[in-house]
Amino acid sequence: MSTEPNKDIKGVLLVKKHRKKKLSVEDLTQGVLNGDKAILARAITTVESTRNEDLKKAYALIENCLSKESKSIRIGITGVPGVGKSTFIEVFGKTLTSRGKKVAVLAVDPTSTLSKGSILGDKTRMQELVKDPNAFIRPSPSGESLGGVARKTRESVILCEAAGFDIVLVETVGVGQSETAVHSMVDFFLLLKLAGAGDELQGIKRGIMEMADAIVINKADGDNLKKAQRAKVEFERALQLYPPKENGWAPQVSTCSAIEKTGIIEIWDIIVQFLDTTKDYGYFESNRQNQNKYWLMQTIDELLKQQFYQASAVKKNLESMLEKVAEDKISPFRAAEVLMASYKKELK
Ligand code: GDP
Repeated sequence: MSTEPNKDIKGVLLVKKHRKKKLSVEDLTQGVLNGDKAILARAITTVESTRNEDLKKAYALIENCLSKESKSIRIGITGVPGVGKSTFIEVFGKTLTSRGKKVAVLAVDPTSTLSKGSILGDKTRMQELVKDPNAFIRPSPSGESLGGVARKTRESVILCEAAGFDIVLVETVGVGQSETAVHSMVDFFLLLKLAGAGDELQGIKRGIMEMADAIVINKADGDNLKKAQRAKVEFERALQLYPPKENGWAPQVSTCSAIEKTGIIEIWDIIVQFLDTTKDYGYFESNRQNQNKYWLMQTIDELLKQQFYQASAVKKNLESMLEKVAEDKISPFRAAEVLMASYKKELK
C-alpha cells in the first residue's frame, strides 16, 4: 500500500485523478445550464473531441442545450492580422459587460493546428476580458479542415447560449473560406479595416463587402484620424453601388479607436438598429433557420467526402486514376464514375 498521503493504492496522484474525473452528459448539461464557466469549457472540449465516445456525448449534450430558449446575438468579427481584432474585442466586450451583458468570445482559425493557436491562443490577449466574470473566452478549436473547425465552433455557440451568454462574438482571421464559414453562423457580420494609402477598396477580398453588415475602420486616432474619416466616405460610396440586401439592412460604415476607446458604443448602437430592422422584417429568424439548413447540407457534403476517401477501394485506385487522367488515358469524368462504382460496391 502506498504510504504517501496524496496517492491512492496504485500510486496515482489523487488530485490529478479528481481533475480528470469524467463528467456524464447530465453533469455537463446541468453545469452548462447553471452557467458554470469551468463546466462550459469542459463541455466545449467534449464537442471538440474526435473520440467516438465523446462524439456520442456531444450529440446528447447539444440536443439538451438546443431546446433552451435564448435571446442571444451572434456577431462575427473579421479583419487581417494586425487590424486590432483582439484589442477591439477586449474593449467592445468590456463595454458590453459593463452594460450587464454576458459575452462569450470564440474563434475560427483553420491555421491554428499548424501555428498552435495563432488567434486567441495567446494568453496575453484580452487580459481584461479574461478576468471579467461575465465574459468567457475560448481559443479556436484545431482541426484538419475548415469544415471541422467551423462545426465545432458552431456547436460551442449553442453551448455558450445555453450557459446564458447574451452575446457571442466569433472572431476569424479570414484565411481561405473562414469568413464565409463564420458569416454562416452569425446574425451580424463586422469587418474591421485600416485606413490605407488612399485606395481603400484595393486588396479587399471579393465577396466580403457583400457579407459585411458593418465596416469599421479601426485605429482612427492620432495622425491616422483624417485618413480613417476619408476611408469611411470611400467605403460608404462603394457600398451604395451594391444592390439592397434582402434583410432590409443598409450596411453601415463607422470609425473607431480600440486603443482610445472611441466609437465603440456607436458600433453597438448600429447592431441594435440592425436587430430592430431585421427582426421587423422577419429576417432574423429566417436567417437562422437557413443557416441551420446550410450546416446540415455542408455536413452531409463533408461526411460523404470523408467516407468516400476512406473507402479502401478508393484509396487503392485513386492514385492510378490520377495518373491515367494526367496522361489522358481516361477522361476525368469516367475515372470519377469508376471510383464511385468501386466505392458503392464496397458499401454493399
Ligand atoms: P489583431 O491581430 O487583429 O488581433 O490585432 P491586435 O489587437 O493584436 O493589434 C495589433 C496592433 O495594433 C497592436 O500593437 C495594438 O496595440 C494596435 N492597435 C489595436 N487597436 C488600435 C487602435 O485603435 N489604435 C492604434 N493606434 N493602435 C491599435
